[in-house]
Amino acid sequence: MMRNTPVKFVVWLESASKKRLLRTQQRRREDVSSTTLKSEKSRVLHTLFEEGMASLYLDFSTPEYRLNSMIMDVAYHRLYKPARTMDDIPSKSCRQFLKLKFTNKGIDAVNISNILRHKKVQSCIPNYFKFKSTLCISYSYTSTIASKLFNYKQTLQCLDIDPLIRNPPTCSCSSSSFNYSPVGHAITGEVDIVKNKDLKSLILKGPKYREPQSFNWRQNFISIMSSVKDYARRWAKYEKEELDTLSEWVKSIRGILKSRIRHMKTKVRTIYPSVFSKPEVIKELDRLHEEYVLLPAEKASNNIVFVCKAHH
Ligand SMILES: [Zn+2]
Repeated sequence: MMRNTPVKFVVWLESASKKRLLRTQQRRREDVSSTTLKSEKSRVLHTLFEEGMASLYLDFSTPEYRLNSMIMDVAYHRLYKPARTMDDIPSKSCRQFLKLKFTNKGIDAVNISNILRHKKVQSCIPNYFKFKSTLCISYSYTSTIASKLFNYKQTLQCLDIDPLIRNPPTCSCSSSSFNYSPVGHAITGEVDIVKNKDLKSLILKGPKYREPQSFNWRQNFISIMSSVKDYARRWAKYEKEELDTLSEWVKSIRGILKSRIRHMKTKVRTIYPSVFSKPEVIKELDRLHEEYVLLPAEKASNNIVFVCKAHH
């Protein structure tokens, strides 16, 4: 569809639509939602996709990088995902995912889905294979910070009612600015109750936030390649072919992955100390756990509520 489009127009389209998306992203101070992209015209999406394929954004802290990954994802699903026919539907083929552990930013940075769609990799799939559409990637994630922050379950489990009634815990709520007057105790969603600024900024990210993990490239390489090999085994089995038939495919992925990692080694940060490794953060968290019950505001919300233990 792009072949009939004049080059000048394509260049304009590229920069104009991309600039607009980036502007929206910066204005909202968050990633452009995939809905915005999904409503783009196919032609625009196609251009963005082609452009994305050609580029390799290396710094994943930039809005360009995040935007690019989202474009690739949405465009791929809208433009290239083959329409399902009855032959495709056998659950086996559709459900074969490349399973990746998304444990760190380095996994994201190599852009494995882009490698899988690479011409060189695609050309290594034997042409007599039945299932050739690009595979889906399923990520498993590390845990969120919720488990470290919330203490409502522990509080309930350890609750020993009788001594509590005889000897109610003392608190300083009456002089606290977080005092909720109808109950006379602090019940608040305000993070200013947190005195340590590192802990506060972490809590502001919400309990569903995952802290970035330190990583090393060699382990990432091993982990990705083991997922690829595992997938190749299942794929060959599905095709009723020897595993050897996919050895070139695996080799081509390995080659590209290696060169991407070599390229990124000096550019991408690999050390991400956890906020929880700071003693003053732990001290403040202990104080909060001692005085308050920390619980999610509502089921669907990403906020934390602090309730004085003497009230709870
Ligand atoms: Zn209180």
